[in-house]
Amino acid sequence: MFFDTHTHLDDEKFENMRGELLAELPANGIAPIMAIAADRESCFSAVKLAEQHPFVLASVGQHPAAAQNMDEEQFAELAELAKHPRVKCIGEIGLDYHWPEDTDKEMQKYWFIRQMELADKLSLPVSIHSRDAMADTLEILRMFPRVTGVMHCYAGSYHTMNELVKMGYYIALGGVVTFKNARVSHEVAQYVPIDHLLIETDCPYLAPEPHRGHLNTPLYVPLVAEKIAALRHTDTEQIAKATRENGMRLFNITQKGEYEYE
Ligand SMILES: [Zn+2]
Repeated sequence: MFFDTHTHLDDEKFENMRGELLAELPANGIAPIMAIAADRESCFSAVKLAEQHPFVLASVGQHPAAAQNMDEEQFAELAELAKHPRVKCIGEIGLDYHWPEDTDKEMQKYWFIRQMELADKLSLPVSIHSRDAMADTLEILRMFPRVTGVMHCYAGSYHTMNELVKMGYYIALGGVVTFKNARVSHEVAQYVPIDHLLIETDCPYLAPEPHRGHLNTPLYVPLVAEKIAALRHTDTEQIAKATRENGMRLFNITQKGEYEYE
C-alpha cells in the first residue's frame, strides 16, 4: 500500500474522471491519500472528499502564491474547518518567491505565520510549500518548535534536508525524483533517513517518468517509490511500507478497518 501525501483532486483537470479515479485507488494499493487545500474553495472541497471517501484525509490552508486573497474572514473560516475530524493537517502553506514581480513577501510571511500559529494551537502538522524561499521558510519554522510537518515536493539541498530532519520535519519526494537530470533530488532520496521520508504525487502536476508532461494522478505514486528504491538499492515494497508508516505517524492517522481512519 502506498500513501500519497499530497494530491489536488479537486483540480478541474479531474472534472470528468474524479469519481472513477478515486474508486480505483484502494484496489490499486493507493490508500490513504491526503487531499491538500490551497485556497478557500479547495479547503471545502478537500473536506468534502474526505467525508465521501474513507481513505481520503484532508488539509486546510492558504497557499502563499495567492496570499493576497487571504483576509480575516477567510482565516476564521479556515480555523473553524480545521477542527473537522477528517482534517489532519494545515497546508499547503509557506512561501513562494518564484515570481518576484507579483510577490508581496511581507503578506506571504504574515499569513504563513498566522497559519503556523493555528497549527500550533490545534496540534496539527503542516504541509509546507517553499519555492525559492528556503532561508525565510526555515526562519519561520524555527519560530514554532512544537510544530512539525512535511516539506512538500522537497527541492532543496542535502544540507538543508539534514537541518529539516533535525527540526523533526519529514521530506516528501514526488515526480521530480524520477527525472533523469534531478541530481540533487537523487542525492536527497539516497540519504534522507528512512523514518523521515514521505512520497507524494502533487497531482495533477509533476507527473513522474514515463508520464512526464502529462496528467498526474495518485495511481503514479508507486513510480516515485520505485525510483527511490532503486536509488537506495532496496525494494519498492520497503519504501512503500516505511513511507506509509511515516505518514500515519506524522498525520496521526489511526487505522481501524481496512480503509477506515479516524
Ligand atoms: Zn500542492
